[in-house]
Amino acid sequence: MQALTFGGKEVIEFSTVNDPQLLHPTDAIVKITLAGICGSDLHVYHGRETGLDFGTIMGHEFTGIVEEVGNDVKKYKVGARVLSPFTTSCGECYYCRIGLTCRCEKGNLFGWMQHGHGLHGAQATYIRVPMADSTLIPLSNDLNEQKGLLLGDIFSTGYFCADNANIKPDTVHVVIGCGPVGLMTIIAAKHLGAETLFAVDIIPERLAMAKQFGSVTLNAATENVKEEILTASNGRGADSVMEVVGSDQTLKLAINLLRPGGTISSVGVHTAPNFSFSPSEAYDKNLTYKSGRCPAHHYSEKLLREEVPQRYNIENIITHQFTLREGANAYEVFDKKLDNCIKAVLLTE
Ligand SMILES: [Zn+2]
Ligand SMILES: [Zn+2]
Repeated sequence: MQALTFGGKEVIEFSTVNDPQLLHPTDAIVKITLAGICGSDLHVYHGRETGLDFGTIMGHEFTGIVEEVGNDVKKYKVGARVLSPFTTSCGECYYCRIGLTCRCEKGNLFGWMQHGHGLHGAQATYIRVPMADSTLIPLSNDLNEQKGLLLGDIFSTGYFCADNANIKPDTVHVVIGCGPVGLMTIIAAKHLGAETLFAVDIIPERLAMAKQFGSVTLNAATENVKEEILTASNGRGADSVMEVVGSDQTLKLAINLLRPGGTISSVGVHTAPNFSFSPSEAYDKNLTYKSGRCPAHHYSEKLLREEVPQRYNIENIITHQFTLREGANAYEVFDKKLDNCIKAVLLTE
């Protein structure tokens, strides 16, 4: 089959590799219909994560059709339309039972192979899905592939971020970063009842989409963000700040914009060894800080049940579509935000 594989720092190769095989009776093989390129794929792309095996198939966002199932797969039959969270989960361990499926004791991240262990990713024709019954989620006919793909990762992540932000009526909230996850966070925060919702970025096209999704936009390059937030909050600061970028600067900005007693909800993938604010700053703000990887299986099921993705045009953020063969170019366009790219997906045939 064809796949995009990791070839080293900023090298994505269009490769011919062996088709995946069933390794365990609980595995399924899924034929990919749509694969996404995620902001966290860029950490790998830039070589910021060390130790990923060369030849690892990239990607962890996908929808597909079940092609083959092991003997112990009960829930899915060949031909079923499915979406998948970016990690596998067993459905039975302590973490799965409490809804923290991203920390499943047997779970793995797709597109992550180290020393020959782990899972290949979804930017390929086929993918092997372990623990298929408890990992995959049916993609119902009222959901298109795009919605399904976003639900398995970034829409769930955005919703998780907003859900952790303690949104109440008559409060002031801020989303820092209007990339794909930030835009999903804005939709979720509005859904959860945020009335005064500011969105901060420096890229005009992204701010325009943030406005379309119902936020008041602030361009950090040309406007005084802190002054605007203080004005909107009787001089107190924001009740919550949702930080989706994952940089030291944005975390620093988050605590600066926050009122005492407020909440920072952070889903940006942080790789720094230390916080960019001090314990005394946290103390002085009576800070609540929530962070971590989204339990996407838990949220995907919840949001489908509540028919949330059905209600919003979340797929409007997908600005670019490429074929697998164009993978190297797709990564470059997405990474450098060329041609006003917000979100890029890959068609696998
Ligand atoms: Zn992702
Ligand atoms: Zn588990």
